[in-house]
Amino acid sequence: MLILFSMKKILILLSFIAAGYILVAQTNVENIINVSEVTRIQKILSSDDMLGRMVNTPGIEKAASFIAGEFKKAGLQSLEGIKNFRQEFVMVSPRFLGLKASLNGAELDDKKVIVITSQPSIKATDKDGYLKVRISEGANLFKEASNYMAANKNMLVMVDESFSSSFNRLTGFKRQLFKSPNQVIFILHNDEASTWEVEAQHNIYELPMANIVSILPGKSKNDEFVIFSAHYDHVGIGKPINGDSIYNGANDDASGVTAVIMLADYYKKRNNNERTLVFVAFTAEESGGFGSSYFSTRINPEKVSAMFNIEMVGTESKWGRNSAFITGYDKTDMGKILEKNLRGTNFTFHPDPYPDQQLFYRSDNATLARLGVPAHTISTAKMEDEPHYHKPSDEIETLDLKNMTSIIKSIILSARSIVSGEDSPSRVNVNELR
Ligand SMILES: [Zn+2]
Repeated sequence: MLILFSMKKILILLSFIAAGYILVAQTNVENIINVSEVTRIQKILSSDDMLGRMVNTPGIEKAASFIAGEFKKAGLQSLEGIKNFRQEFVMVSPRFLGLKASLNGAELDDKKVIVITSQPSIKATDKDGYLKVRISEGANLFKEASNYMAANKNMLVMVDESFSSSFNRLTGFKRQLFKSPNQVIFILHNDEASTWEVEAQHNIYELPMANIVSILPGKSKNDEFVIFSAHYDHVGIGKPINGDSIYNGANDDASGVTAVIMLADYYKKRNNNERTLVFVAFTAEESGGFGSSYFSTRINPEKVSAMFNIEMVGTESKWGRNSAFITGYDKTDMGKILEKNLRGTNFTFHPDPYPDQQLFYRSDNATLARLGVPAHTISTAKMEDEPHYHKPSDEIETLDLKNMTSIIKSIILSARSIVSGEDSPSRVNVNELR
């Protein structure tokens, strides 16, 4: 027997069904992650307008504003303490001009003093409260020196004279330096420094940079982060090949950034993530990973449950469509969790088939992995056959945007139990990293 509804009730019922349907439709993966949206974003990021997205160029600035605009449009938040999604920092490279130094009243040979500074001119003495430490014979010179560099303090580091042949290599810190108000002074000498004085002059070159970062707070595990990242810089304009000098980096790594933007939009629309999600477009990956290095100093690595770094997902992997690989598969059990979540779907993830190429160490995931974070790169690159890699021909036309759309969906499916907080991948054992 039929239940008879009044016309009014039917209309109300229909409108409820319709509203419910629209809600479901809006949050459906298929509707949010679609080829036309992937194409729109990918086209802009890899256009000639972006001039190959080289750091410190108007091209990369265009890309930065575009990505920030997409995060804003999706309704995401900026990280605390930063504006317009721009996590800004400055790299400096000091070029040595000259120095004068003395130790316990005696003048020092300037070859025995290395000053790491962001200031054109410094004068420091034992009265200035520098923290005094020593690197002793038999120690790991570069490891200890790096720790002191990272301490963000004014430091006087006395280096044992047994390191005289490698001492000069500490000037390498001047090649990649975050702008800082602090100095680290290395002196090669066995005596204790009771009184000392150092004056140094450098030419300082400054390079302003910005990661573009957005967050979506978690519903219940607000203090546990899952990072989705890719690098938005590329190698810029270079030697022309077949008359084209713009290295568009459509696959490397506009494809990854497109994925990150799509994921941000998707998760915001779903709005049911238990963990806090952080979406990052890193700068300066190609020039040494400075973007991820800086980012890693602004986040507590212990709070990061997992990092999905996405690199070169625009082409078909060696297994064909709907498949990708995970770098550093054996470093944590994250790969197994992703595989478990993909069981019964059309997608498969595999361990990195190119272990000789050390891909785990060649992208921004490595920076976080070195801090213990389960941080891996997802990629479809066919490393034995990527004819456009770092060439002006890395253009959108060479990508399979339909497959790329599928890969973005597969990342969502693979991340399901990590985003929901059910699974926590094991940590990277940093002592096992090379
Ligand atoms: Zn790359």
